[in-house]
Amino acid sequence: MLMTKQRRPAIRTRRGWAISVLQEAGAIRECDAHGWMLDRADPHARDRAFDTARRDPPQGMSAHDAVGAVGEVLDGIGDTCLECSQQVD
Ligand SMILES: [Zn+2]
Repeated sequence: MLMTKQRRPAIRTRRGWAISVLQEAGAIRECDAHGWMLDRADPHARDRAFDTARRDPPQGMSAHDAVGAVGEVLDGIGDTCLECSQQVD
């Protein structure tokens, strides 16, 4: 019997998918030091991310939900890393 191959987990969550879209569009980035997601405050990049969500929503998600997921992630991301700002003395 062949073992069931473990497929690399695709993007498993709605939030994870939205983050990947935002990263690809360049709308968010990770803090180099801490890995937190940071909003780059680039309206064009945001537009690209929303556009991708609308045109290419993940399987099982409507375009409307996909756009909503991207918006939720953006809402929850600040433009400064909390840990970096705490270290500034
Ligand atoms: Zn940081």
